[in-house]
Amino acid sequence: MSEAEYDLIIVGGGPAGLTAGLYAARAMLKAVLLEKGAVGGQVLLTDWIDNYPGFPEGISGFELVDKMAAQAARFGLETRLGSVVAMALAGPVKRLTLEGGGELTAKAVIIATGARPRQLGVPGEVELTGKGVSYCATCDAPFYRGQEVAVVGGGNTAVEEAVYLTRFAAKVYVIHRRNELRATRIVQEEAFANDKVEFILDTQVRRVRGNDQGVEGLELLGNDGAERFLPVSGVFMLIGTQPNNDMLPLTELAADPYGFIPTDAEMRTRLPGVMAAGDIRSKAVRQVVNAAGEGAVAVLAAEEYLHRHG
Ligand code: NAP
Repeated sequence: MSEAEYDLIIVGGGPAGLTAGLYAARAMLKAVLLEKGAVGGQVLLTDWIDNYPGFPEGISGFELVDKMAAQAARFGLETRLGSVVAMALAGPVKRLTLEGGGELTAKAVIIATGARPRQLGVPGEVELTGKGVSYCATCDAPFYRGQEVAVVGGGNTAVEEAVYLTRFAAKVYVIHRRNELRATRIVQEEAFANDKVEFILDTQVRRVRGNDQGVEGLELLGNDGAERFLPVSGVFMLIGTQPNNDMLPLTELAADPYGFIPTDAEMRTRLPGVMAAGDIRSKAVRQVVNAAGEGAVAVLAAEEYLHRHG
């Protein structure tokens, strides 16, 4: 394996990648963290985080990842800006092709490429994105001060962000395709107690209507066949996440049907020397705290692999 440039390449700079970077730097591995945009990942889209331990008053998403990056940098983690377009991961030397043609090699790789918001796929959605259609309530809520908006989805994200939106909007409709929410009870109860939140259940969005000026409203179809138009000036699509897996060899990694990567409890994928951590993993719970924990575990697995194959 002597021709490999690095011991370890960490792909992705969200909480999983940054924590992996911290552990790798402290373990004195020759490691590099590759990030295609700003480090931080999806957390940068989160206004405020109250459930990351160690911050009793809560912390902004930006500040949390900024601290994580600074902590890894303190131990000398090398970070590179670059977008990986292909990965050859099967052999002892892992080869990562970068956009623009460069190549990086390593003995081990941690995939921490994360996930992104899912699109609803209705007419008007793409055309009006940025003009009233949003995927991030915490980013765009202040634009809707005193206005009526809608949230699509029934999970924790949709219901929590609906409550957050009431800080700005006059009214928030939550449109969910079933008659039962997926969000946990504590999250639901907070929304039920908020008189600015109104639930429209058993209902699907058929079209986002708008013009150059922005969104005018939503064409809704009830599961009973009833049609209605809901005038709103903004709509937040909060219907789950999709893996950032374009650059991954999905068949070799035995990706699940949704494109997420299975691992064992040590974050090892089925390819020797390749670990995955954070939201890209096939798993039920996608939280900052478990992403960070998985980043740490993945480095310990990488160290063990390097020790055996180094
Ligand atoms: P999620 O739990 O997968 O919920 C997605 C929601 O969108 C579901 O209600 C789903 O409806 C709906 N949906 C999906 N595709 C749809 C479509 N094409 N049309 C209409 N509706 C659609 O996603 P999430 O809320 O983003 O949460 C992701 C993970 O993060 C979960 O594990 C969640 O618990 C966790 N999370 C936790 C917290 C917290 O603990 N504070 C906060 C945010 C997120 P169905 O219910 O009918 O499937």
